[in-house]
Amino acid sequence: MTLPARPELAGAAPYGAPQLAVPVRLNVNENPYAPPAAVIAAIASRVKAAAAQANRYPDRDFTELRHALRDYLAEESQATYLSADQIWAANGSNEVMLHVLQAFGGPGRTVTSFSPTYSMYPEYARDTFTTWLPGEREPDFSIDLERAIGHIDQTNPSVVLLASPNNPTGTAVPPATIEALAKHTAGRAILVVDEAYAEFRRPGTPSALALVPNYNHLAVVRTMSKAFAFAGVRLGYLAGSAELVGYLRTVRLPYHLSAITQAAALAALEHRQALMAQVAQLCVTRDYLAAKLRERDLEVPDSDANFVLFGRFADRHAVWQGLLDRGVLIREVGPDGWLRVSAGTEEETDLFLDALADVLDAPGRVG
Ligand code: PMP
Repeated sequence: MTLPARPELAGAAPYGAPQLAVPVRLNVNENPYAPPAAVIAAIASRVKAAAAQANRYPDRDFTELRHALRDYLAEESQATYLSADQIWAANGSNEVMLHVLQAFGGPGRTVTSFSPTYSMYPEYARDTFTTWLPGEREPDFSIDLERAIGHIDQTNPSVVLLASPNNPTGTAVPPATIEALAKHTAGRAILVVDEAYAEFRRPGTPSALALVPNYNHLAVVRTMSKAFAFAGVRLGYLAGSAELVGYLRTVRLPYHLSAITQAAALAALEHRQALMAQVAQLCVTRDYLAAKLRERDLEVPDSDANFVLFGRFADRHAVWQGLLDRGVLIREVGPDGWLRVSAGTEEETDLFLDALADVLDAPGRVG
């Protein structure tokens, strides 16, 4: 008997970056460094205290965590001090953005972004019955302001998702473009600046957080998955106006953020200094990776994230497979001809570069 599934789910595969047990895994932009021992101990102690009250529902409004996230953002971006009711959090920034679409998208409404961009955006749209009508980036992956505005006028979205630094290209959107888009969408759409990789931005690339106090429809989304080496915990968050956050609070399921998650996130935020040292190292590795790939005459867009896109290959799948055969897993994603690799530990990064040289220089070379 066939099940009465929604027609748009017919034949759809769940999100599925391969999870393969190979020695070098550089495919999902994780932080390659495990949390330091002091952070692990602090998490264990906070979680133990939370476990002792596991019979009770957690704080629905995660008040302590909101304050800690607010303090972290003020410190990290030298941004205006926000109030805790301007902060939202959920199980990963994916869930945060789903809340945005649940509150501001919906049947008869449209969400847009600029491709190539994060592959989950169309899924948030589908799952909230919102029409997905993306515009395009330029061949160098930048966003042309006039074209973007034209696209917004034509598609009339209620939500615009703007990844900066963008995945899979690593490229950041200039602040003037973000502010112009904020002005243009005021009163008609929510503008989400997805800053999942913000902590890896290069000096001189500002965060859009500074704009939050000026625009009640602009929200900046962050995650602890990358910079905080916390992908396994699932904690994403958002900064926006209290009014916008109020709508997210309306659509969330009760107690969506477990006491265990709240406890673990608080412990990591307390130890942010140790974790940010890893971020600085990853930025050095990212720049090294880009330089080494360029030495091979490969194209690498300037990256403000913890990964780089590189190409172009006539047969990118063959290159991806060649690397996998040598124990290195990267990501076959983005426009045809390109591959994406995350910055690993120094050792992993060199193993990747050696394997790539082996694949590309082998007799009968691929790609
Ligand atoms: N936004 C972007 C641009 C991403 O690349 C990712 C993860 N790859 C996310 C959001 C979601 O991250 P998480 O749900 O782990 O916070």
